Amino acid sequence: MRPSVLIPVLVALPFLASGCGKKRSPVEPPPAVQYDLQVRWLGAPPQASTQAAFSKAVARIKSIVVGGLTPVIVPGGFNVAECDSTLGGHADLAEETVAGLVIYASIESIDGQGGVLGSAGPCLVRDQNRFKPALGIMRLDAADLAAFATQDRLDALILHEMLHVIGFGTIWTDNTLLSGDGTDDARFTGTRARLACATVHGGATACATSVPVHSLDGPGSAYAHWRESVFTNELMTPFLNSGLVPLSEMSIRSLADIGYVVDIDAAEDYRLQAALVAAREPGAASVAEPPLALPAPQRPKFTVSDDGRILPIRHTRSIE
Ligand SMILES: [Zn+2]
Repeated sequence: MRPSVLIPVLVALPFLASGCGKKRSPVEPPPAVQYDLQVRWLGAPPQASTQAAFSKAVARIKSIVVGGLTPVIVPGGFNVAECDSTLGGHADLAEETVAGLVIYASIESIDGQGGVLGSAGPCLVRDQNRFKPALGIMRLDAADLAAFATQDRLDALILHEMLHVIGFGTIWTDNTLLSGDGTDDARFTGTRARLACATVHGGATACATSVPVHSLDGPGSAYAHWRESVFTNELMTPFLNSGLVPLSEMSIRSLADIGYVVDIDAAEDYRLQAALVAAREPGAASVAEPPLALPAPQRPKFTVSDDGRILPIRHTRSIE
């Protein structure tokens, strides 16, 4: 990914200011352009534990994604109900320039504890920058969030969902990085993620050619996550295990495969074999407590251009 269009302007400034043609050193790093990620509540802000989980997820993702994107205009009059028809009754948005991603989050009463946990995903994606999201939605059931046993588990859920909104599993097909879509053996073909799986996480066999993608359990779980039977407690499998749910280097490098500038230091320790053994051990936490099926991620609905033109996306195959 190329950093934002702001870069040439910023780089040019020293030349203009000095007026003597003084050159930057070739080893001098480019000016930092940070990924701009914002969450805005639709309706009343949720309880403190949920707000804390969102704040932590934003901080975590900003430690992972370290480069800027092309600013786009979200035109006035756009309504979040166009992203998710259940989000009716909110005012139209005012026109604004979005440098990174704005997530509109609604913590609402859906169907009480159990049942539907919610949904999340990008809605407006750039028509450049390899379809990186500009506006996304997270809609979660307040009763389910209130029932989470620990803050760590709630934090993991929110981070998992927010990663879908920035593009994990939701813009793979748009970036032609998913093979076997619709089959029982889908694969993520990004080279960086595959290499991390094979060389860092002990997946030399599992990831010999590509990364196994979950292909079961219907729309939502399938084709948008790492394969549960291979990666078990990794954060970006479709089921949230109890115990540790590390965000692996493989997941972070998959964001680089869709063009984000990432910092690998943000990855957590993760090994395929250790995860499998822990999951199968009698009495293991993940056996004693069935993993939680996470909400279905939503594919983007529209592209938006830098000057604010919105066009619907027609998906030939959908995870929705
Ligand atoms: Zn998910």
